[in-house]
Amino acid sequence: MVFIIYKMIDFKLNNYKLINSSDNIIPFKRNIQKVCRFCNKTSSEVSFNTVPHIIPELFGKNSVTSNFECDNCNNTFQLYESSLSTLVLPYITLLGIRTKNKIPSFQSSKKNGKKATLMRIRDNVREFNFHNNLDDIEIDYSENKCTIIFRTKKFVPFHIHQILLKISISLLPESDLIENKHYLDHLFCKEPLNNGSEIPELWRYQLGNKIFKKPSAKLFKAKDVLVDKEEFPEYFLVLAFGNIVFQYFLPLSKKNKHIHKKSNNISFEIFPAFYWNISKINKIEYNTFDILETRKVTIDEKIDLTFDKIQSDN
Ligand SMILES: [Zn+2]
Repeated sequence: MVFIIYKMIDFKLNNYKLINSSDNIIPFKRNIQKVCRFCNKTSSEVSFNTVPHIIPELFGKNSVTSNFECDNCNNTFQLYESSLSTLVLPYITLLGIRTKNKIPSFQSSKKNGKKATLMRIRDNVREFNFHNNLDDIEIDYSENKCTIIFRTKKFVPFHIHQILLKISISLLPESDLIENKHYLDHLFCKEPLNNGSEIPELWRYQLGNKIFKKPSAKLFKAKDVLVDKEEFPEYFLVLAFGNIVFQYFLPLSKKNKHIHKKSNNISFEIFPAFYWNISKINKIEYNTFDILETRKVTIDEKIDLTFDKIQSDN
């Protein structure tokens, strides 16, 4: 489902406060005693050799690393990251974001056995090769605009929930994590847990003009979780890169389980616009995903672009 908003309504985020951000993390250090925040094992039991990124490098090279993720857990999380990477790859290539050492190319998944559309950046020029997939592009010559369909490769939406939860747990203050140890169960399960603590929700916003030069992650907490039968998820994560913002609502907090009733309205306060001065953003397009889906899916991303020229092969 896609919604487009031109000139925003006034979104106010009165009920949430920022509790931690990727700017406040102590970076990776070697040769110190460590405890893994996810499996609770210590450096005498498991190894901590890999430099674990809190913000995956698929969002761009960054130094937001941690001292509380062991190699075993890191290995599990890499699998989840690959699903997130598949979902965001069209945007990474389009925005020319350097991941580990280069700007990755994007290739659409094959359709009817035909050669797939390719997008890459060469010498700072964005190039598209549609081969015979001309129905992947709609061109408006009078305005030099086009709409391109990018068909992602297969990925598991449930893994996206798990990696975003892992990033959130990395930012959770220790006392909040102690109250919510059940979050760790969500990280290592194969199927969504049906223990009354679900409702993870994911929104993605594409901003018309604002570009974030470096990726960032911020964790927000509700001041009140129940206001006049209106229930607010206790925590949400905001992950921003390029012109994309993900907002992920964590599963229900254990502390608030007793107030969670079917008769409550759940209120998702979407887009923490107050944070980035909304009046300067000219357009926001947003959509939501079913992140409890455990089967592999592909998504057709429709992206509007403007162009300088179109070249034919012959
Ligand atoms: Zn671990």
